[in-house]
Amino acid sequence: MSAGVPPRAAAQRLPVRADLADVEPYGAPQLDVPVRLNTNETADLPPAGYLDEVARRITALQLNRYPDRPHRRLREALARRLRLRADQVWAANGSNEVLQQLLQAYGGPGRRAVYVRPGYSMYPELCRTSLTSAVEVDLDDDFQLTPDVAQAIAAEDPDLVLVPSPNNPVGTPVGHDAIRTVHDTTRALVVVDEAYVEFGGPDASVVDLVGQLPRLAVVRTFSKAFRLAGLRLGYLAAADWVVDDVQKVRLPYHLDAMKQVAGLVALEQEADFLGHRQQVADERDRVSAVLAGMDGVRVWPSAANFLLFRTDVDDLFTRLLDQGVLVRDFTSKPRLTGCLRVTIGTPAENDAFLAALHNALA
Ligand SMILES: *Cc1c(COP(=O)(O)O)cnc(C)c1O
Repeated sequence: MSAGVPPRAAAQRLPVRADLADVEPYGAPQLDVPVRLNTNETADLPPAGYLDEVARRITALQLNRYPDRPHRRLREALARRLRLRADQVWAANGSNEVLQQLLQAYGGPGRRAVYVRPGYSMYPELCRTSLTSAVEVDLDDDFQLTPDVAQAIAAEDPDLVLVPSPNNPVGTPVGHDAIRTVHDTTRALVVVDEAYVEFGGPDASVVDLVGQLPRLAVVRTFSKAFRLAGLRLGYLAAADWVVDDVQKVRLPYHLDAMKQVAGLVALEQEADFLGHRQQVADERDRVSAVLAGMDGVRVWPSAANFLLFRTDVDDLFTRLLDQGVLVRDFTSKPRLTGCLRVTIGTPAENDAFLAALHNALA
């Protein structure tokens, strides 16, 4: 560089990566309104005594030291619960981080991920940031993963397949047969995202197929039925080679010592944590029946803690928000025209939602 030319370092700003230039940070609105039913959390606090026990155990930690990097005790506790070995289990900061690690390990340039539509809105985001090419395959008209849909997935010859079960935002579970078909007709890692599976019956999970289907990866979270969305803890159940591979992309000590303890205590108190599920299911079925009885409303069957419903009122989201009720707006999403998703809250919150909806449609 010749003297007198201003150094390039004088530039005020480094442009972000070109493919991120027009990207909006992802996330549902966090609005301070009386009734927040837009992110599928559980309305009830964790069981009484949980935080006291976590606090008691945290005081014994040596925080000057890095945490146990492979978080062995947490993985052993998860493995016992899932009837797997600890080397088939892995945890991270929310199931979103587990999904990100899978995309980093198995996606990337030259790799292709297929995800179903409708499906979880983070999948395209994760593909983009990991530079994985993304292909959407439509579920059928009833939003089911039928044999035809499985065939369309296989025709894409994917490296990864991402399937939420129960589906978010629809609420429908995907059965063992459909997952087996997708697995057996592709060479892909089949990722079944079971964020809401604890709200289904005892047979809702395909985790029993880990071990039978070598390329199956089941992803779960403490954010929904476990009432610990604030904790940011999720986990993976898969073949041991998958767990080995994600360790190639994880940051060292990604799971902090306090979180490892908090997760362990939650598993010890599992029965207390999950005791609310019947009430959620009862409330879901009550709200669903009221929606089904309203003129001009279609509601989908749900095995989760939320309901997807459709009306022909364009500004319904705003009409509800004006009454202090925040739901999730899918009105302008492909295949979901006119659809909103409502989380099942406390009975009082659900009543407030139904009253607001009744007003808005009147
Ligand atoms: C809520 C949700 C998650 C949870 O993400 P966390 O990072 O564990 O909070 C994952 N997948 C789906 C489909 C979800 O709806």
